[in-house]
Amino acid sequence: MKTMKALNARRTEAREFQTPGAGVFFSVKKVLYSGRSRFQTIEIIRSRDYGRVLFLDGLVQTTERDEFYYHEMLVHPALASHPKPERVLVIGGGDGGALREVLKHPVKKATLVEIDGQVIDACRSHFPWLRAVFRDPRAELVVADGNVFIERTREKFDVIIVDSSDPVGPSTVLHQEAFYRKLKARLRPGGTIAAQAGSLMLHLDSHARKSVFLRRIFRHAGLYLGPVPTYPVGMWCYNFLSDRVDPLAARKLRVPKGLKFYNSEIHRAAFALPNFLKEKVGGRA
Ligand code: SAM
Repeated sequence: MKTMKALNARRTEAREFQTPGAGVFFSVKKVLYSGRSRFQTIEIIRSRDYGRVLFLDGLVQTTERDEFYYHEMLVHPALASHPKPERVLVIGGGDGGALREVLKHPVKKATLVEIDGQVIDACRSHFPWLRAVFRDPRAELVVADGNVFIERTREKFDVIIVDSSDPVGPSTVLHQEAFYRKLKARLRPGGTIAAQAGSLMLHLDSHARKSVFLRRIFRHAGLYLGPVPTYPVGMWCYNFLSDRVDPLAARKLRVPKGLKFYNSEIHRAAFALPNFLKEKVGGRA
């Protein structure tokens, strides 16, 4: 169903097949990077309408024009509702967008664990506005499998952000129950977790399956939603997980200044789920 490369043979167009018969395409102005790492095919193009676009194994990961929808909604609900987020872990997210949003909060240290150093290098070269993020003295970069890192580290974190790819290849493990149990063990008291969970329409079975085990692990295990124009069907889901923090009861949300999408009204609205999703996952946490 999914192609490994987004670029066509003439390198004039890049496509993501979201289902066997539907998807998105971008007219290519220039191919900036095209390579294969140990883990995946990496392509970065300059597109006609969406600026620079990163594909991994033929799937859109981020576009210059709409990345803020995704990165702000992935990161800020978990950080803004935490009373004092000092140490933050990002698993995946080699493009640096999630890390950039984390560093907008007064955190002491933010560790990014990305399995594929080649993704970090390619993004550092071709998304120049992210270079400052990787240079921030509070940022620590670790090239490792997030699942192995979380097993071995002795550190604990106030907030963990899972910015994984879809559950194929090295990312599969980041969508499983055992991984979330390990995350919980590395969470400081009162900690929060946010994880990208997939498309509202195309990944309903995955939301249902995960909701069952996440509710077994965390007292608060809710889904929330946000639009991402270039992701499948345009509406994305995220898991919010915590034993202590109810995201809708947080007395004061700590919202950094200057965000483009997220604010306290969006935070509350994002936890309202459409009926078909509620039925599938059995209501909100
Ligand atoms: N927002 C994106 C999406 O859903 O399309 C995800 C973007 S981010 C680039 C995903 C990253 O997770 C990739 O760079 C990939 O290499 C990384 N990744 C996949 N499996 C991983 C693992 N087991 N440990 C750490 N990073 C992993």
